[in-house]
Amino acid sequence: MTALNLGRKRVAIIGGGYAGMAAAVELAAAGVQVTVFEAGKVLGGRARRVERASLSSHNTSNKPAALDNGQHLVIGAYSELLRLMRVCGVDLEAAFLRQPMRLQVEPDFLLECPRLPAPLHLAVGLFRAKGLNWGERWALIRAIQVAKWRGWRLKKDVTVAEWLQLQHQPATLISRFWAPLTLAALNTPLELASAQVLLNVLRDSLGGRRAASDLMLPKLDFTDLFPAPAAEFVKANGGYIQLGQRVKSVHGNTGGWCIDGGEQYFDAVIIATAPHQAAKLLADSNQASELAQQLAAWPYQPIVTVYLQYEADVKLSQPMLGLSDAISQWVFDRGVTHACPGLIAVVISAQGLHSGLSHDELALAVQQELHERLDLPDLVLQQQVITEKRATFACTPDLVRPDNRTEIAGLYLAGDYTAGLASMNANGFEDARGEYPATLEGAVRSGVKAARAVLKDF
Ligand SMILES: Cc1cc2nc3c(=O)[nH]c(=O)nc-3n(C[C@H](O)[C@H](O)[C@H](O)COP(=O)(O)OP(=O)(O)OC[C@H]3O[C@@H](n4cnc5c(N)ncnc54)[C@H](O)[C@@H]3O)c2cc1C
Repeated sequence: MTALNLGRKRVAIIGGGYAGMAAAVELAAAGVQVTVFEAGKVLGGRARRVERASLSSHNTSNKPAALDNGQHLVIGAYSELLRLMRVCGVDLEAAFLRQPMRLQVEPDFLLECPRLPAPLHLAVGLFRAKGLNWGERWALIRAIQVAKWRGWRLKKDVTVAEWLQLQHQPATLISRFWAPLTLAALNTPLELASAQVLLNVLRDSLGGRRAASDLMLPKLDFTDLFPAPAAEFVKANGGYIQLGQRVKSVHGNTGGWCIDGGEQYFDAVIIATAPHQAAKLLADSNQASELAQQLAAWPYQPIVTVYLQYEADVKLSQPMLGLSDAISQWVFDRGVTHACPGLIAVVISAQGLHSGLSHDELALAVQQELHERLDLPDLVLQQQVITEKRATFACTPDLVRPDNRTEIAGLYLAGDYTAGLASMNANGFEDARGEYPATLEGAVRSGVKAARAVLKDF
């Protein structure tokens, strides 16, 4: 990227999650002086290293195991995240365990896309899908092919449950494939989730290049994966990262923007927080009150991650496995990815029957399920449960999402919830193709998009 001659413009970014750090890298690379204000002690926001984990597991080099606030999955379609990681000098080979798409959902479903050029990889994968009878397999192939022929667009957005009914999808196929996929991709139950957003995800993953559907299991914690190298990149380009600084107010006047009444002025401000935090900031600062109200009412869904430490020789048959009709949805072996033998992470997306259980009850229920369904020992050495109540926004049909530019000149928004994140080509974004669910890629694209809006307005 070539640096613009901007007479060293200054931009404040509030929030050091994936969106904020993506905006920071994009601006720093263009020659802007960036200051990131992050309330937490570590960068990463909803995808961050958890420092004070009670689980005292050790990795093979005998360092305390780094946990994340939640087990995340990256796919090959996350083109902007991977691009910015490269810009920041991250070695992608070392950062990820990359493998072709393999969705194994116990007891017996398996969709594996072989290393063949697209769309053959998908055709062969669907044709060979295991755990389905011919009627169910044909129903799956037909639903995906019809969506593809229609350009992955619905005339009218409906819930995933309604769309599956319209596509005559059998109950077994729904419980083995569609339900775990929708929860993993949209973190919203089928009955509430947007079918159009699910199709956008399918278009860019299964319907894209073969490599786009690759599963990329991180080998690093989520602070080290991108936000920490991004911070180094920003500092190397004359910017600042201020950790542990929760911004309370932003005010603009003819001199520019000031943060918490400070003396330093900025030419623009990007609020890169979650929607409810942006709402508070806007309301406390008496800015954009209508937008503040809209963001304050933003709907969320939770995600729980249950970490179970077994004896070091305990392994899964695959680094990642799904379970159908169970509390435990996706199970990850961090012995394979993070050199922490015997450490298993179990992800439970969205609200559900488990929501009424205490952490101890939930850990016990999960432990029993893994014992009964995956033959893991019935004894764990240690456990830790992390609940993120506002993990992602509820991805419902026709959710109206705000643009990166606000009605106030010089004030911008970034975050996984903003508008027009689905597709990006060499010239910029094609907003017409729809939206992304709350994902790391959505957050990064939004940060890049906000930064480009700032640069354009300069
Ligand atoms: C448990 C869990 C599992 C997930 N799994 C996946 C997955 O597998 N794949 C995937 O792609 N996505 C996943 N996601 C979603 C993904 O993590 C989010 O979409 C993404 O991290 C959102 O990034 P963001 O920058 O938009 O917001 P955030 O990460 O929320 O960043 C906002 C930042 O702003 C800071 N902040 C807030 N208020 C202030 C203030 N006043 N002053 C200063 N700083 C402030 C916060 O501390 C935070 O660091 C998961 C999320 C969770 C919680």
